[in-house]
Amino acid sequence: QAKNEGRNTFRFFTPKINQQVQTRNLVQKYLRHAIFQNELYMVYQPFIDLKSGCVVGAEALMRWSNPELGQVRPDQFIPIAEETGLIVELGAWSLDRACSEVAQWQELYDYSLWVAVNLSPRQFRESNFINEIWATVKRYHLSSHCLELEITERLLMEDIPDAKELIEQLHNYQIRLAIDDFGTGYSSLSTLKRYPFQVLKIDRSFIAEIPEDPEAVSLVKTILGMAQGLGLKSVAEGIETAEQQAFLQSLGCDYGQGYYFSKPLTAEKFRDYLKRYSASRGNG
Ligand code: C2E
Ligand code: MG
Ligand code: MG
Ligand code: MG
Repeated sequence: QAKNEGRNTFRFFTPKINQQVQTRNLVQKYLRHAIFQNELYMVYQPFIDLKSGCVVGAEALMRWSNPELGQVRPDQFIPIAEETGLIVELGAWSLDRACSEVAQWQELYDYSLWVAVNLSPRQFRESNFINEIWATVKRYHLSSHCLELEITERLLMEDIPDAKELIEQLHNYQIRLAIDDFGTGYSSLSTLKRYPFQVLKIDRSFIAEIPEDPEAVSLVKTILGMAQGLGLKSVAEGIETAEQQAFLQSLGCDYGQGYYFSKPLTAEKFRDYLKRYSASRGNG
């Protein structure tokens, strides 16, 4: 019995598991104060119109830099934030920050620029959710079609009361809705048709395998055909090479995002990026 072995109990835990548990506890502990301590910031990864090559918007991605833990990746802290409910606060914070920053860039460079913000299923369970989103849009005098909300297929699978009503309400506010990481979940054609999405984002895992892998190619073609059939705009995420870009363009994919164009940039760097970009177009 482990209990009788006293100190030796620890031999059941490999140091690695022990370390993981500790990191997890620390993440949870420090995350609580991250907003208040100014440890969070947003980075922005441009969306490129594949036909024209123009920058049309950006996805806002959360970053956390903690003095003890260093830089913590979103896939390390978002799941913990979701479990603990902290995601509600973090999500509100990221939406506010992203709206405020895009409003500034619009004023400086281009009013049609849009920003995409990721939403967690947990946020949908908050009663005041829609009102808060709308209040944020108004706070920065943003036109609502310049905000896009990214929702994963997971949300549609989870049993969230009123999910459909909430999504329709957002649609009524003319806030665009994107289905993120498409192809990794189980949503069917009928799910897609049931909800008023405007944008479909093809998961990076498929893009990584084109144009070499024939199966990935036919999957991507099918997804693009489906998007067109349903009248949705398509975004390919994780474009890393010129071949991928050219190939997706030839298939009629609308927008692209990925390291080939740019890594996610801090607000300051993204602003410089837009400045250089609009200067090169002659209207900066
Ligand atoms: P996502 O929404 O699918 O975001 C795309 C991820 O792919 C980002 O990772 C981005 O940096 C990465 N990426 C983009 N282009 C490339 C590429 O060419 N190659 C490769 N290898 N990766 C690329 P990131 O920033 O680490 O975010 C990971 C996930 O964390 C996001 O996936 C999203 O689900 C979640 N997340 C990030 N910020 C937020 C947020 O503010 N709220 C919520 N709820 N989730 C967030
Ligand atoms: Mg996303
Ligand atoms: Mg994605
Ligand atoms: Mg993804």
